[in-house]
Amino acid sequence: MNSCLRRVVIISAPSGAGKSTLAKYLLERFPSLSLSVSATSRALRGEEQHGREYYFLRNSEFDEKIREDAFVEWEEVYAGVRYGTLRSELERIWGRGDAILFDVDVKGGMRLKEVFGDEALSVFIEPPSLEVLRGRLLARATDSLESIQKRLDKALEEIGFARYFDRVVVNDDLGEAMRQIEQIVGDFICDDIGNDDTDANGI
Ligand code: ADP
Ligand code: 5GP
Repeated sequence: MNSCLRRVVIISAPSGAGKSTLAKYLLERFPSLSLSVSATSRALRGEEQHGREYYFLRNSEFDEKIREDAFVEWEEVYAGVRYGTLRSELERIWGRGDAILFDVDVKGGMRLKEVFGDEALSVFIEPPSLEVLRGRLLARATDSLESIQKRLDKALEEIGFARYFDRVVVNDDLGEAMRQIEQIVGDFICDDIGNDDTDANGI
């Protein structure tokens, strides 16, 4: 698996459904897949590093990027906190011949699919139920009870958008979800090795 050309894989899910777990797994399984590092206006947490988890920007810097049209898409994912996909990430990752993995919220995922069309595979990670999702968010212990309730309210709305994605993976048994997503993504990113149609996206 050397070259997967200008392809993009989008993973979206309600918070706690297992998106980061599955994205990390895909990055380990497919060396030619690289994660797009988003910009965010939120503060850096714990061990996070600027340029690794996110590009951490002040609100004024984020505004400036919007003015410069530096984002492919951006969203206010949580009240007062913005996240966005930088155009420069496309050049950085495609420039070294890799396919791009986007880990973005549900609206951002739908927007990226609109932008990239057939060059993109959009995958929605669905929790088996809201009860299970609640249990996982509680067990993860990274969010307050208030924040968990907000995520659950939002999840209900987001699950309604699953039908707009190319594929849906229900993350019930983790091993099974990993197997399914590996199959889906593997089929998509590497089925055109040798076809050097590098202008396909026109971006
Ligand atoms: P997201 O990135 O979608 O917010 P995470 O990947 O952080 O979600 O997963 C939320 C929590 O649920 C984590 O603690 C993770 O280890 C756990 N988890 C993920 N998938 C499963 C699964 N299939 N079964 C049980 N726990 C899971
Ligand atoms: P955090 O990392 O702050 O816990 O959560 C970030 C949330 O914002 C996740 O749902 C993540 O997928 C989403 N997100 C991260 N980067 C982007 C982006 O560039 N665009 C959009 N729309 N959402 C993003």
